[in-house]
Amino acid sequence: MPAIPAWPPRSAPRLFVSQPIAANSPVSVEGNQAHYLSRVMRAGPGDAVILCDDATGEWAARVTEVGKRAVTLEPTERLREREAVPDFQLCPALLKKDRFDLILEKATELGVARISPVIARRSVADKLNPERARTIATEAAEQCARTALPRIDAPTPLGGLLRDWPEERVLFFADELGGAPAAEAFAAHPGPAALLTGPEGGFDDAEREAVRALPQARAISLGPRILRGETAAIAASALWMALAGDWNK
Ligand code: SAM
Repeated sequence: MPAIPAWPPRSAPRLFVSQPIAANSPVSVEGNQAHYLSRVMRAGPGDAVILCDDATGEWAARVTEVGKRAVTLEPTERLREREAVPDFQLCPALLKKDRFDLILEKATELGVARISPVIARRSVADKLNPERARTIATEAAEQCARTALPRIDAPTPLGGLLRDWPEERVLFFADELGGAPAAEAFAAHPGPAALLTGPEGGFDDAEREAVRALPQARAISLGPRILRGETAAIAASALWMALAGDWNK
């Protein structure tokens, strides 16, 4: 096992910044990030911070200046390349805010590459605040030490998602009315994958038929119990990661 470097400490604050990081090229953070470093973490000049930019990987940095509005950091060395993310796209139907927030957070922790919210006929929500969604995913990535952020798409009606579905990507359709056991289906179809889960009231019959008619779709069962939409999305993502993703690396 590679030795864990003594510096920066693993407890150092982690932050995703929007500008590309390069050695010895100062990075300035403002707003919530400056507040977090200076007020919450009480960071001062010389303190260690770990920075990521979703492009060049993970960097050790030191605080060089703490101002009223901004904190300046100097990246010193690259600790890790940006990670390779398993090719798994989660297409969850939009749910009520708190429940969908949970999907964004947990899907990021689980290593999902792309989250494509779906608007279904029985969806109670049809909007997603993109900035808020990005903040939830970024905070989850900082917390779990991801070096790559998931891509988050704007919500798409189910019909549009199916119409433009790429030929090479299998679409696992979580259908509470029946399908192949999820573990068997995931193991049988390695490669680019996606998972569709429904809203609180489930998909209606016409939607279920339209999904099943897609040649790339494979209906799967997540067991004998009816799961909430967020449980289905999170549990099935975890199962895919274990069987076809990066949990065995
Ligand atoms: N149609 C149901 C109803 O309203 O009584 C429930 C829908 S369920 C709360 C939301 C979504 O979770 C479903 O559309 C499906 O995608 C997924 N789901 C829940 N339990 C499942 C299971 N046992 N197998 C496969 N998918 C499941």
